[in-house]
Amino acid sequence: MVKQRTIKKTVKARGVGIHSGKLVNLTLIPAKADHGVVFKRLDAGGKEVHAHSAFVNEVILSTGLESQGVKVSTVEHLMSAFSALGIDNVIVELDSFEVPIMDGSSAAFIFLIQSAGIEEQDAHKRFIVIKDSVRVENGESWAQVSPYNGFKVTLEIDFEHKKVKESGQKLSIDFAKQSYLKEISRARTFGYLRDVEMLQKQNLALGASIDNAIALTDDNILNEDGLRFHNEFVKHKILDIVGDLFLLGSNFIGYYEGYKTGHMLNDQLLSAILSQPEAYSVDTFEELDSPIKYYSEDWQNEL
Ligand SMILES: [Zn+2]
Repeated sequence: MVKQRTIKKTVKARGVGIHSGKLVNLTLIPAKADHGVVFKRLDAGGKEVHAHSAFVNEVILSTGLESQGVKVSTVEHLMSAFSALGIDNVIVELDSFEVPIMDGSSAAFIFLIQSAGIEEQDAHKRFIVIKDSVRVENGESWAQVSPYNGFKVTLEIDFEHKKVKESGQKLSIDFAKQSYLKEISRARTFGYLRDVEMLQKQNLALGASIDNAIALTDDNILNEDGLRFHNEFVKHKILDIVGDLFLLGSNFIGYYEGYKTGHMLNDQLLSAILSQPEAYSVDTFEELDSPIKYYSEDWQNEL
């Protein structure tokens, strides 16, 4: 059978919180089968927040969760890494309200999980399988999922910026053929310098810097080393989508298509999927074969 996964041992990392600008300690701890991904706020009496669409309460700049009056912000890049490596069960301890931003991609989390090692558990791994199309729209933006024998994402962004336009604003990734680790995990978040300056006047984005984001000036980027991929912008948005989709609670089988989507539209899409029981099923598999071929050792190890 295709089994659930946790990590082999406890691992720790430390990094800056993008909102607070303060150092945050992150600890990943193995969890038993059927536990799910659960955040634990050590600075708030150890209260827990389950990583699930039902608890999303922040969708503007990043995806955040709230439960029992306790928040956890900026979960999407860590969730993206868990999805990519198929980690179903893990406890994420934090001593602040946000997941550290690291380098603005999911590469540091991938490295952390791989250094812990991955342990298969004696329980069937569940997949969310899309059975019927679901679409949400907001103005000209839209996102939809439809049935697909694997996991594929096609996204088009539309940023009025010379560097983003040059880089290519549309990309399709079929994860059975292209490696998340190689193609997506190193793509960093990005933002306009003028927006960051405005946010910082409101005491937000205090941790943002060129160490953890691509900073866009009016017609260039501030980062001296340039881009990691010519199309890093749209690749990062796909990294976000993989993370947001994992808030369904299981790895995903289907085709996500979107135009100018963000965390808000992704959240609306997840709620729409979960409110239509005929649109999906929760399946288990005996063999590591199509449609979960994307979820293979090759896919995970190809860095
Ligand atoms: Zn992101």
